[in-house]
Amino acid sequence: MALQKRRRGPSLTRHQRSAWSKKSGENRPTVQACKSCGAPRVPHRICMACGTYGGETVVAKKQAAE
Ligand SMILES: [Zn+2]
Repeated sequence: MALQKRRRGPSLTRHQRSAWSKKSGENRPTVQACKSCGAPRVPHRICMACGTYGGETVVAKKQAAE
């Protein structure tokens, strides 16, 4: 039986995240600064800027590889 890769595709995820910025107060999601690079990061998610999670590099970025 086929397994879905993710619940939502990239465009739907970005579309929803664009709506977060329009929210205010309690509905606004938590955004933390990444410990390694300082970029804004959603908690319990891999940092999209440097690819680290929990202090370890999980996803190797192309800039680091080259
Ligand atoms: Zn980072």
